[in-house]
Amino acid sequence: MTTEARRVTVDAADDAAGGLDFIRQIVVEDRRAGKHAGRVRTRFPPEPNGYLHIGHAKSICLNFGLAAEHGGLCNLRMDDTNPTTESVEYVRAIEDDVRWLGFDWDGRFYHAADYFEQLYDCAVRLIEAGKAYVCELQGAEVSEYRGRWNRPGRNSPWRDRTVAENLDLFARMRAGEFEDGSRTLRARIDMASPNMNLRDPTIYRIRRAPHYRSGDAWCIYPMYDFTHPLSDAFEGITHSLCTLEFEDHRPLYDWFLENIDAPCRPRQIEFARLNLSYTVLSKRRLLELVSEGRVAGWDDPRMPTIVGFRRRGYTPEAIRDFCDRIGIAKANSIVSIAQLEDAVRQDLNRRALRVMGVLRPLKVVIENYPDGRVEEVEAVNNPEDAGMGSRVVPFSRELYVERTDFREDPPRKYFRLAPGREVRLRYAYFITCREAVRDPATGEVVELRCTYDPETRGGYAPDGRKVRGTIHWVSAPHAVEAEVRLYDHLFTRVNPEDAGVGGDYMDALNPASLETLTGCRVEPSLRGAPAGSRYQFERRGYFCVDPDTTDGRLVINRTVTLRDTWAKIEKAQQAQTAG
Ligand code: ATP
Ligand code: MG
Repeated sequence: MTTEARRVTVDAADDAAGGLDFIRQIVVEDRRAGKHAGRVRTRFPPEPNGYLHIGHAKSICLNFGLAAEHGGLCNLRMDDTNPTTESVEYVRAIEDDVRWLGFDWDGRFYHAADYFEQLYDCAVRLIEAGKAYVCELQGAEVSEYRGRWNRPGRNSPWRDRTVAENLDLFARMRAGEFEDGSRTLRARIDMASPNMNLRDPTIYRIRRAPHYRSGDAWCIYPMYDFTHPLSDAFEGITHSLCTLEFEDHRPLYDWFLENIDAPCRPRQIEFARLNLSYTVLSKRRLLELVSEGRVAGWDDPRMPTIVGFRRRGYTPEAIRDFCDRIGIAKANSIVSIAQLEDAVRQDLNRRALRVMGVLRPLKVVIENYPDGRVEEVEAVNNPEDAGMGSRVVPFSRELYVERTDFREDPPRKYFRLAPGREVRLRYAYFITCREAVRDPATGEVVELRCTYDPETRGGYAPDGRKVRGTIHWVSAPHAVEAEVRLYDHLFTRVNPEDAGVGGDYMDALNPASLETLTGCRVEPSLRGAPAGSRYQFERRGYFCVDPDTTDGRLVINRTVTLRDTWAKIEKAQQAQTAG
């Protein structure tokens, strides 16, 4: 659904009942109640410590979509408070990905790192109010004092320092007088709270590491739980949408806003993160796959990253449609990757050019077709869209067909080539297989000798004779050679994290996730096609040109298989021959 179609009017009483998800209902209610003067402002706040994945796409669509539906705005904010994991490369990639997905932040591009001075001031205000203190407990002691979920914690021995002492120590932390890890600034809340997040959480730590944005300006860095609500408040965010694991952090989020007396009080709302079957969606995991060389990079077409999907041939429209279809819920679940593939198919079905490409070529010689003659047959570019027109494809005496389209000993319901069998060559002629030529050494079929019926040009017999099989082909002398990369799921388990005792998600890595076919043959219209061009290879699936393509080398990715009767029949036959 487009934003226009979903645009919400706050006065219409029945909008909330009109199939809005729970977040959209809350926003409608808030506007009706006049909160924030009816204004809606959201933000997408990634940490630039990796490339964005499909889970982030869900958050992007929600934040930008929701704002647009209410005539509001959505900010893009780098949540960049960790000097050791963040980089400009990731920042640039995030900008590219959000833009590619079709969203625009219109100059509202912010960095938490740019708020360091303001955040520092807020921390000082907390100290002045007796609500924060400098603590000298070390790692193991901190957790010892924190207690357990079922056992209250104990107050830190540093909890009751005077305001003056705390102010002095905090200033000296900033000035670099203390070693990394030797002191922290903690919020003074409640060491007995049943919510562990409220047991005097750390708000600043000492870390001597240059930051990609603030350089060497700081040796203390604010923690996420402190930074996030305040950044939201600084930007006038009205609805701060995040994933469920932050639900227990919400009281802390509110505590900071209240105790700093923030002028704007954003409302945090949690929703279920996207989990996809056969996929890991965590930047940490994805980084491991990249750095351990399990994949070729962040943009490996098997990766669930936006750059990976883009290289694989997925469209932004398909990804947005998928996010729309899965909706927003409050309970975690695993969405089938088939749903994503389905959205991709639907979109490509409408827009991809149909072409013919042979993945595993078998030579066909048409014995009664004159040597040296070339005909041009007309082929439809997209039967879904007459406006996409047609093209001509050369036909000649020597062709390639798919190896799987010939069977010496055809099973029942196999309607393709077999000795003595007549089939239709798509857009061209009927041909009949006369003989299979074998390699004398290996016994492998290397060529089919066929004849054609010149009366059947265009693929129809004037005598009304029918054939049951139609196969695709390319003219051998005109075809372009290509390398085709076929992809399967990166993991063999529905939930790769479901590894059992002593197991690991890496155990579930699919050793057959990439199959590279060389010597494939595609029709000449693909010659010179730029990287990113998308096609449907008739009967084979959706494909796109990979950026590894050079002048002399065409590299093609399979985006997604076709789910059609061919695929089903082929599967049944494989089962038949295997069984
Ligand atoms: P990861 O767990 O993959 O490292 P993250 O939550 O640490 O992700 P951030 O950069 O902090 O990554 O995420 C930016 C925004 O995207 C956050 O608001 C976060 O809630 C949201 N987000 C991250 N992963 C998902 C997901 N799988 N589904 C929906 N939203 C997500
Ligand atoms: Mg995060």
